[in-house]
Order: sequence, then structure tokens, then C-alpha cells
Amino acid sequence: MRYDDSSPPPESDAPVSPDRPWFARRSTLIVTAAALAPACLAGWVLTQVVAGSGHHGQDAKPGTAAATGPRAAASASPSGSPSTPAKPGAPAKLTGRTVVIDPGHNTGNFKHTSEIDKQVDIGTADKECDTTGTTTNSGYMEAEFTLDVSQRLRTVLEAQGAKVVLTHEADRPWGPCIDERARIGNAAGADAVVSVHADGVSAGSRGFHIILPAKVKQGAADTAAIVEPSRRLGERIAGNFARTTGSAPANYLGSGTGLVVRDDLGGLNLSTRPKVFIECGNMRDAKDAAQLTSPEWRQKAAQGIADGIVGFLGG
Ligand SMILES: [Zn+2]
Repeated sequence: MRYDDSSPPPESDAPVSPDRPWFARRSTLIVTAAALAPACLAGWVLTQVVAGSGHHGQDAKPGTAAATGPRAAASASPSGSPSTPAKPGAPAKLTGRTVVIDPGHNTGNFKHTSEIDKQVDIGTADKECDTTGTTTNSGYMEAEFTLDVSQRLRTVLEAQGAKVVLTHEADRPWGPCIDERARIGNAAGADAVVSVHADGVSAGSRGFHIILPAKVKQGAADTAAIVEPSRRLGERIAGNFARTTGSAPANYLGSGTGLVVRDDLGGLNLSTRPKVFIECGNMRDAKDAAQLTSPEWRQKAAQGIADGIVGFLGG
């Protein structure tokens, strides 16, 4: 499928060492980040070209990517085990906050190819309304994965007092289109928006990455106001996701930071609220797929995303 065709080769055949993952050093990193965050951020900025990012085949135009390091991503979440809900009597950290969760794709999209192939205006270009998403080699659909993680994420966030809106929930035959997904977050006045995905690239490519909005201003797209807060949101989620899941940042893009910037995604270009995508792993890699198909792992994934949102919103 096109998303496989557009994938860059892995930067290394070797996965990130499980012995010394960067997130294991977070205690030191937290101190470092607290003391030196501005300098670290300024000094860590990398620039690279992402030659297409996996399954978002509708987004074949390579984007310019920049990434900051994991130092600022390692956040000091106080939460306990991944499945631990808010303690009874504990203050709800997200009361009064609205979070929009966007489960990537739709399990019915493959039956509605003419509808999802319709072009929509994302400001910088015309793009397909939506795509089918990828699957594991055994047929577990990305759209099943994204909805499951999103529903788990909603449960965790609601336990913290948040108002949570999902862009869809198996309640429509296809879509929504990417422009509508963005508008739902905008209309809700969301304090944070997360679009949940999993990648579909070659076996051996492993790990998660967060996609941050590039600064774009064209047509209906104007991301100037969300670039900086979206980066902070993404960094928080990256650090917490790594901690709760034990997964490493992607070994095939992002230079090991788990962060990339793209200017070709309608869901980001049209957002007026802080927003990121998360690609939770590679469905086409057997080891990643074993995690993605595990309900227990998906709960950890949801908890990590939730902890990142809480950190971003100052909980
Ligand atoms: Zn996707």
C-alpha cells in the first residue's frame, strides 16, 4: 500500500537499546530540564527531512521536520501504575478542561473508498478526506486500535474531571474527513487535542513518535498560535508514553527523539487548538504489533497519553 511505498528505510536495524532507554534517566533529566530547559531546547533543535511518514499515504509530500530532544519531554508525572484511576477524594486535575480525542481513520473507511477519496481543502493543499489506515499482518485494523485507545484515554481523562469529546466513535460508516476532525477540536474550544494512530512501515522499524504542527499560513491554515503549545503537549506525551509503555522513540525517523514536525497534515494545519498526532507503534513490525494488539499495553498507552495531557495542562 502506498504508505509502505513512501516509507523511509530505518535509520538503523538495531532498536533503541532496552538497557539504557533515555526515559530511564528521567530523574536526572527532570532536574536538567527544570534548570536548563530554555538552553536545552535551544541547543537541541535538530532539523531533518522526513521522506514521508509511513501510513499517512495521503500525506506523501515530504515535510520538513524539526525535533527537540527528550530532555524536555521527560515530565514529572506523579501518577502511579498505568491503570490506576484518580484516587478517591483526590482533586480532579482537569476540572473545567476540554480534551478532544481523534481516533484515527474509521473501521468502515475501506468500504467507502469513493467517499474518503474525495478531496478536501487543508489550506496548503487539497488532500483526500481520509484514509483507510493500516493493519497488522494478522489483520488487526489501525482504526480498531485507535478507537480502543481513545476510549480508554477518555475514561482516564474523565476520572480527572475533564470534558472529553471524541471526533467519532463507530457511530458513522466512514470518516470524518480530516478537515472536519480539525473543526471538531476547534468548535469544542479544546485545551488539548490528540489524534491517535499507529504506523504502517517496514518490519524492523519500531517505536512511537509524536507529530507536531509546522508553522503554516495559507488559505484556511494558520498554525502560528499553536506551534509552541503543541510542541509542549507533544513533549509531555512523549515522555509519559515512554514511561508507561516502556516503548522507545521511533528508530526510523525523528533522530531518536520521538518527535517530528509536519506541514502536510490537514488535521494539524486546520487546528486552532494545541494538537498533536501520536503514532503509537508500527503495526507491520511483529514486536510492535504484539504490543499494539495487547489490551494491557493499550491501557498503558492511554495512561501515558493522559499523563502527558495532565502535565501539559498543569495538573
Ligand atoms: Zn493513521
